[in-house]
Amino acid sequence: WLPLGVAISAFAVVLMLRLLRRIQSPRYRLLDAINASELRVYYQPVVNLSNGRVVGAEALVRWPQPDGSMLTPDIFIPLAEQTGLISRITRQVVQSVFRDLGDYLHVHPDMHISINLAPEDLLSDDLLDLLTPLLARWQVEPQQIALEITERGFADPKVTSPVIERLREAGHKVYIDDFGTGYSSLSYLQDLPVDILKIDKSFVDALEYKQVTPHIIEMAKSLRLEMVAEGVETESQADWLRLHGVQYGQGWLYSKALPPGEYIAWFNQQNAT
Ligand code: C2E
Ligand code: CA
Ligand code: CA
Ligand code: CA
Repeated sequence: WLPLGVAISAFAVVLMLRLLRRIQSPRYRLLDAINASELRVYYQPVVNLSNGRVVGAEALVRWPQPDGSMLTPDIFIPLAEQTGLISRITRQVVQSVFRDLGDYLHVHPDMHISINLAPEDLLSDDLLDLLTPLLARWQVEPQQIALEITERGFADPKVTSPVIERLREAGHKVYIDDFGTGYSSLSYLQDLPVDILKIDKSFVDALEYKQVTPHIIEMAKSLRLEMVAEGVETESQADWLRLHGVQYGQGWLYSKALPPGEYIAWFNQQNAT
């Protein structure tokens, strides 16, 4: 009986260790946070560079930690994409936007919120099926909800463009996010079904020496795309962008991403005059 007892205890120990590892694994913790609806959305104001007025915000997801800190998405979004959790996060972000700002969007039809999508969100119409009843219930116009898609999301036009087209047909604006940071050539822009181009922070950081930035801007203009510059930190960057015809900007010069209550207060204060 002794060897059997030893074998059973060893087996129990292995099981316990496995369970512990599972509980501590980042994927398991993220899954737990999703199931408990713990993720939060912060809003980074986007301003009109020519008059300083707030035109809306980008929704940026945050993961509150037990110690009170907030984990930023560049740490857990890649994990979520690799482990099949990303579309559940997107759905929760969309639902949070309406819960946080639905009433506000209804009374401010000129306020726009953009939501980041992952390539996986473009494989089906699930997102559209989620958005349509939310817009109706909160009486928000589809133009008020924009979708940010990176070059990766456009990578396989056969798979994704029907979904992107349907989102646009429903009235949503589509942004190309982080354009120019991928490997595709700039002329690729003319083939993309998009309404607005977001100039990545890496270009805004190096306006003086990145020779490609004016080319991106000229191409966007010739395609009649509006532009939003991200990561604007200084007045001189804002001046340069304004001078080159970029309409909108977001960045720490104006505000970091804020929890919903603070964003609404900021919006009211900025647009009061
Ligand atoms: P992104 O879409 O390029 O978002 C802009 C990031 O730059 C945000 O980081 C924002 O907080 C940061 N930022 C904005 N202004 C400044 C500035 O003036 N200076 C500096 N240093 N940083 C600035 P965040 O919130 O950490 O988001 C990181 C990335 O995670 C985002 O990059 C986006 O790709 C992704 N992400 C965020 N939320 C979501 C989401 O709900 N779904 C998906 N799929 N991805 C998301
Ligand atoms: Ca974005
Ligand atoms: Ca971006
Ligand atoms: Ca970026």
